[in-house]
Amino acid sequence: MTAATLTPCPLFINGTWLRPSLVGTPVYNPSTGDIIAECPVGGAAEVNAAVEAAAAAFPAWRETPAVERARLFFRYRQLVEQNFDRICQCVSREHGKTLAEARGSVYRGIENIEYACGVPSLLFGDTLENLARSVDCETLLQPLGVCVGITPFNFPAMVPLWMFPLALACGNTFVLKPSEKVPLTAVLMIELLEKAGLPKGVLNLVHGGREAVDALLTHPKVRAISFVGSSPIAKYIYETGTRNGKRVQANGGAKNFIVVMPDADMPKTVEALSTAAFGCAGERCMAGSTALTVGAAADRLLPGLVASGEKEGAKVVCDGRGVRLPEAPRGFYLGATIIDQVSPDMTLAREEVFGPVLNVMRMDDLDAAIETANRSAFGNGAAIFTRSGGAAREFKHRVKAGMVGINVGVPATMAMFSFTGWDDSFYGDLHIQGREAVQFYTQQKVITTRWFGGEVDDVWKK
Ligand code: NAD
Repeated sequence: MTAATLTPCPLFINGTWLRPSLVGTPVYNPSTGDIIAECPVGGAAEVNAAVEAAAAAFPAWRETPAVERARLFFRYRQLVEQNFDRICQCVSREHGKTLAEARGSVYRGIENIEYACGVPSLLFGDTLENLARSVDCETLLQPLGVCVGITPFNFPAMVPLWMFPLALACGNTFVLKPSEKVPLTAVLMIELLEKAGLPKGVLNLVHGGREAVDALLTHPKVRAISFVGSSPIAKYIYETGTRNGKRVQANGGAKNFIVVMPDADMPKTVEALSTAAFGCAGERCMAGSTALTVGAAADRLLPGLVASGEKEGAKVVCDGRGVRLPEAPRGFYLGATIIDQVSPDMTLAREEVFGPVLNVMRMDDLDAAIETANRSAFGNGAAIFTRSGGAAREFKHRVKAGMVGINVGVPATMAMFSFTGWDDSFYGDLHIQGREAVQFYTQQKVITTRWFGGEVDDVWKK
C-alpha cells in the first residue's frame, strides 16, 4: 500500500484535527499483512498541548450541569449505533478479529456509553439530617480535572469506551492515548463524539508509545490515569503515576482457569470452552486459557501444544502452527491449539500466551483444581462447569479471582459492574466500570452545616 492510500491517523487537540509531521510506526491489517496506516509517535510536546487544552476546558465543562453532559452521550450513543458497521469494520481491519467478534465488543462499549448517560443519578451524594443538634451533613461527588486513558491493542473500541464516556460524564476532561497498533478506531470514535457536540478541549487524542506515556505520567496537570494493557506495563504505570501524585487504575494481563467437573454438561462445556479459549484469537484478558479437568472430565475434552510446553513434556493434541490462507498469504495466523498434560510448573501454565492456545491440566479433585488456580500470580477471571451447586459454591467462595463464572466461560463484567481483577491483573484501588469507576473519576466532598438560632431565625418567623 502506498503512502497516498494509507488511512490518515491525526491527533485531536483542542477541537482541531492535526496531521502530524511526526515519524510514524506501521499499523497492520493482521488478516492480510498489509500496512494500512502510520501511527505518529508523539512525545512531550504533543502531550503537553493536549493536557493544556484539557486543563483549559475543565472549568467550563465541570460547570456544565450533569444532565447536559449526559445528553452529549445520549446523542453519541445514537451516532455510534448509526455508524455501528463502520466502527466494527475498522476494529476488525486493524485488530484482525472477526466481524462478529468486533460487533460483540462494540456492543459492550455501547453499554458503557449507556451507563454514562445515567450520570445524574450516579453522582447522587448522601445526606444525614441532624448529625448533631441543628447540624446536617451531605456529600458531593466532584470531578478531578484532567484524566488520561492509555489503552491496549486487543479492544480498539471497547476499552477506550470503558474510560472516556464516564470520565467526561462525571465532569472531567480527558486525553486518550490508544495503542499505536490500533489507533484508527479511536480516531473514528472521537470524530463521532465531535459530531455529537463535544466542546473544544474536553477530549483530546494523542498517539505514540513509551515517550508519550511517560509525558502523561509525569505531567503536573494530569490528575488520574486509567490504563489497560500487559501486567509489567500496568505495574510501571501504577508505580510511576502514583509516584507523581496521580490516582491510577491499571488493568494488567491474566491467566484464567476453567474447572471442568466430571458432571458438567459436556457438549455445552466444550462449546463454552472453545469460545473462551479461541474467541478473539485468544487475545483477551478474560480468555479461558487453561482447562483444569477433574477426574474423568479430561478424557471427554480434547487437548494439545506449542513448542515451549512440548519441550517440557506436554502433549500437542491440536496444532495450529503453520496455518496459511491462500487468499491472504501474508496474514498473521495461528490456528486453535490444544495442549494436554500441562503441569503447574510449566511456562504455559504460568504465563499469559495471548493467543488461541488452550492448556489442559488434569486434576484429581476440586481441591487440587482450586489450589492450582490459586497459585497463579494473576487473578482476573476463573470459571467452573458443573451441575453441582455444592461444587460451584465451594469454587466461588475459595477461588482467587475477581470475576467468576459458573457455567459461564468468559465472565467479563458488563458496564454496570466493575471489572474486578485481582493480584497481578490489577494495580490500584478502584476498578474500571460500574460504581467503582464513578468513585475513581470523582472526589468526595463532605459538608457539615450548622445554622444558628436566635436573630437569624426571627427573619423567617416574621
Ligand atoms: P501493552 O502493555 O503492550 O500496551 C498497552 C499500552 O501501553 C499501549 O497503549 C502501549 O502504547 C503502552 N506501552 C507499551 N509499552 C510501554 C512502555 N514500555 N512504557 C509505557 N507504555 C507502554 O499491551 P497490549 O499488548 O497492547 O495489550 C495486551 C495486554 O493487555 C494483555 O496482557 C492483556 O491481557 C491485557 N489486557 C488486559 C485487560 C484487562 O482489563 N485486565 C483488557 C484488555 C487487555
